[in-house]
Amino acid sequence: MTRQQIFEFFRRLADANPSPTTELQSGNAYQLLVAVVLSAQATDASVNIACRPLFQRIKTPRHMVDLGEESLRDAIKTIGLFNTKAKNVIALSQALIDEFGGEVPRTREALQSLPGVGRKTANVVLNTAFGEETFAVDTHVFRVCNRTGLAPAKTVDEVEAKLEKIVPQPFRRDAHHWLILHGRYTCKARLPECWRCPVIDLCRYKPKTPPPGERARPTAARSASRASSKARTAKGRTASKPRANRNRARPTRLP
Ligand code: SF4
Repeated sequence: MTRQQIFEFFRRLADANPSPTTELQSGNAYQLLVAVVLSAQATDASVNIACRPLFQRIKTPRHMVDLGEESLRDAIKTIGLFNTKAKNVIALSQALIDEFGGEVPRTREALQSLPGVGRKTANVVLNTAFGEETFAVDTHVFRVCNRTGLAPAKTVDEVEAKLEKIVPQPFRRDAHHWLILHGRYTCKARLPECWRCPVIDLCRYKPKTPPPGERARPTAARSASRASSKARTAKGRTASKPRANRNRARPTRLP
């Protein structure tokens, strides 16, 4: 895409949703960090369901450490990988108390030094809690960047590096939210909803998905041809046995 097209791409996403944010619910930077760690390979909705009652009691790393791993495990048992995640959340809460005075650090290096915190989690926290212009690349962002031609690359790190380079102001702060939401609700993994996409003319993905009413339905002729092809296959299957038998060595004379 050209620089002008990239600007237009984000301008339209921004137009449709001027104040995008994460769908994870939290009341402070610490709760956001915990929610993002818990959201790995899980939906935001499932994390919110588990965290809503949890976050009413747990607002700081000290509260979490006092709660303990077993109780935390029980509170998040509806989320995938809850055993490992409970261990990590207790360990990262202890590390925040021991090394950062109970506060969530504001640098990528410090965040990534915490148990269970990778580059993507650090990027989300830096962006959402501290307003940094970071580009967290999850599965939705990766797909949208590749499909559209916005930032095509083979790995999430390469996509992130490209986004760093090409996303213009004033869209840098919210770009990753727009891309996530666009991938989650419009440019879906199985069937992108191109017919209602605001960037359809800028996107290089082909073929575009037509509206539901215009998608090809099996016509009578096509159905009939499919049925006869199935019949031929079935016939072929039953017919293959005698053919195989014919190839076997036959006795040449009566015993
Ligand atoms: S046109 Fe289709 S493939 Fe392209 S961004 Fe929109 S939904 Fe995704």
